[in-house]
Amino acid sequence: MRIVLLGKPGSGKGTQAVMLSEKTGLPHLSSGAILRDEIRERTPFGLRIEEYVLRGEIGPQELITDVVFGHIERKRYASGFILDGFPRTVYQAEKLDEQYRPARCVLIDVPDDLIVDRISQRLTCAGCGAIYHRAFRPPSAPGVCDSCGAELRQRSDDNAEAIRNRPEIFRNDVQPVVDRYRDANHLIAIDGTSSPGEVYKTLEAATISR
Ligand code: AMP
Repeated sequence: MRIVLLGKPGSGKGTQAVMLSEKTGLPHLSSGAILRDEIRERTPFGLRIEEYVLRGEIGPQELITDVVFGHIERKRYASGFILDGFPRTVYQAEKLDEQYRPARCVLIDVPDDLIVDRISQRLTCAGCGAIYHRAFRPPSAPGVCDSCGAELRQRSDDNAEAIRNRPEIFRNDVQPVVDRYRDANHLIAIDGTSSPGEVYKTLEAATISR
């Protein structure tokens, strides 16, 4: 099954995608993680997109689409995946529908005021990508991932400028994607304001148990 998770940065998409992936065995594909790997490896593509990612902006969307689709092809994921962070524009949604039409599109809905706190308190595992919150979901040992033992870091794009930019970028670029799926009667919106466990129950009901 192909599942798309939509939501503002900090809405909990990444956390929910990891939980759903563990339950279903479907691979979790985060376009942001794919881009961050390319940047870390200093590939030509990584160097090209680095400044956009640091500012929290949408980069060259055609190129990014090719890279994400290349990843799906290479790993033979075409029959099923959980996509997190893609599509982020109507262009990307159109391409996705053409090649890998999703069975479920879920919007995790969270108001703007919660987002800033969640992003500025977010810690991400450098090894497995697990996500923590300094106050509400702290690791058992400070700075160390509970799942894999690797170091926890603040993402370099969780900086003040990117955090400021993100709500507007969501409204301009991602909201039209949400509207597109809603207009096509293909959107399931769930409330993302409660605890990760509570949100997960609703997500499961909206996807695999439906
Ligand atoms: P995320 O991990 O989803 O928060 O993404 C981190 C950053 O990567 C975003 O702020 C964008 O700069 C970039 N990015 C991730 N996914 C996409 C995408 N589908 N299209 C364009 N840029 C993206």
